[in-house]
Amino acid sequence: MLTDLVQIQRLGHQKLKENQRFRVYLKTHNYSDRRLRRLAEQIESQIDCTQCANCCRVAEAGIKDRDIETLVKFLGVSPDEFRRDYTQRNQDDELILKRTEAGCVFLKDNLCTVYEARPRSCATFPNLVRGDGSIDSRMWRLIDRAAYCPIVYNWMEAVKQEMGFR
Ligand code: SF4
Ligand code: SF4
Repeated sequence: MLTDLVQIQRLGHQKLKENQRFRVYLKTHNYSDRRLRRLAEQIESQIDCTQCANCCRVAEAGIKDRDIETLVKFLGVSPDEFRRDYTQRNQDDELILKRTEAGCVFLKDNLCTVYEARPRSCATFPNLVRGDGSIDSRMWRLIDRAAYCPIVYNWMEAVKQEMGFR
């Protein structure tokens, strides 16, 4: 199991084209979603996210109204204060959690300080075991995540091996 984030970044970028080919391969081979999910569960169970937290440093955390309702209660602030102090717009003008040089505004010492009230996009990340639709339909996002998330990187390599992809 590869967990070194520098190596994962290097290999994830190096394998970008290969992973794009693999996405097409997966789409055309009708592989069992249940099996893909089971492999993801096995990989997830072997990786400690509290030792990693790379998604909180690297990826934007999108938020919806229901997330804001939960977070304002948890933090004891008003919705306006929350929007002012803890959110920003990304390049696509979507509302996301505010980002600092260290990543998400709620990340402290590799831990999420609002874990019990974290947005759904965080709770379902990296959208392998949890997520809407089939894994196959989410592959377009996973290729990018394979360059920074150890769960996605190791899962993709495991599936390629199991399916005999070259
Ligand atoms: S979901 Fe992936 S990137 Fe995020 S903490 Fe877990 S292993 Fe790291
Ligand atoms: S809210 Fe928590 S889990 Fe979500 S990105 Fe921020 S620190 Fe990470």
